[in-house]
Amino acid sequence: MIPEPFEYHIPKNLEEASRLLAQFGGEGKILAGGHSLVPMMKLRLAAPKHLIDLGRLTDLKYIRESDGRIEIGALTTHFQIQSSSLLKEKCPLLPETAREIGDVQVRNKGTIGGSLAHSDPAADWPAAILALAGEIQARNVSSSRWIPASEFFVDLLTTALGGDEVLTAIRVPVAPPRSGHAYLKLHHPASGYAMVGVAAQVLLNEARHIESASVGVTGVGPKAYRATAVEEALRGKAPSRQNLEAAAAHAAEGIDVNSDLYASAEYRSHLAQVYTRRALEKALERAHGK
Ligand SMILES: Cc1cc2nc3c(=O)[nH]c(=O)nc-3n(C[C@H](O)[C@H](O)[C@H](O)COP(=O)(O)OP(=O)(O)OC[C@H]3O[C@@H](n4cnc5c(N)ncnc54)[C@H](O)[C@@H]3O)c2cc1C
Repeated sequence: MIPEPFEYHIPKNLEEASRLLAQFGGEGKILAGGHSLVPMMKLRLAAPKHLIDLGRLTDLKYIRESDGRIEIGALTTHFQIQSSSLLKEKCPLLPETAREIGDVQVRNKGTIGGSLAHSDPAADWPAAILALAGEIQARNVSSSRWIPASEFFVDLLTTALGGDEVLTAIRVPVAPPRSGHAYLKLHHPASGYAMVGVAAQVLLNEARHIESASVGVTGVGPKAYRATAVEEALRGKAPSRQNLEAAAAHAAEGIDVNSDLYASAEYRSHLAQVYTRRALEKALERAHGK
């Protein structure tokens, strides 16, 4: 289908983009890679009167390290993250997640900022950014703030971003020593999105027990979430198969689990448990240096 008519704007800098967004109120939308917004416009599920294309804001495309943290500009593509040698060394969960997204074309155009701002309930980035306890930077014409990932995803396609705010960056801690990570995903057979996707990071203590675990889950409910009951169940425990299985049993606890043609709520809950256990196992193997 053909989208509703719209006016196209190409701001030269972030200030101009923020000003346009504030000026158009609810009638303006940011365009980043266009790989979620344009399909929605073609289906007329979205009909913004003004499109504000961030394409010229190349200073929002970067990956850098400072003060024990990695910061990524909102316009950084999935492929840039997948292929970053800095991230492979300092935060390998991110490249591992990036390579699971869509196909080569999607990864070349789609941006991490666009994916997080869109908050598709089956998108991959939200699981990883939640598991890493990341923060998301939002800016409007007059101020800037960092939003913890745990507060950012509010509901289906809804985030904590204000209507006049541009998502400008994401930051996550560098992976600490004695930690391991994993992102495991069951791809939807048609769309390739996550039927279930689980990102896990575990930290071992000196006795090689689990000091802490963090688990982000996507595809299961109306929004991605931290599986806090799983995390609690693992704190201080030995990394045995029995403990992992018992903890993973909580993977969909308290979640209004999606049910559709491809998977009933019961089956999806089961998948969430299985993928959580497997992601934790893989993360632990890596934390042990295997
Ligand atoms: C065939 C196909 C397969 C795909 N498979 C997957 C998959 O397996 N896993 C997955 O996670 N995703 C998948 N995607 C989605 C893809 O990752 C998108 O790139 C991503 O969801 C949106 O990023 P974008 O840069 O294209 O954003 P856009 O489509 O440009 O924007 C998406 C939304 O976010 C808003 N927005 C964008 N950037 C900002 C910003 N900086 N500040 C504020 N608001 C902003 C826009 O206004 C819009 O509402 C797929 C897409 C396609 C077309």
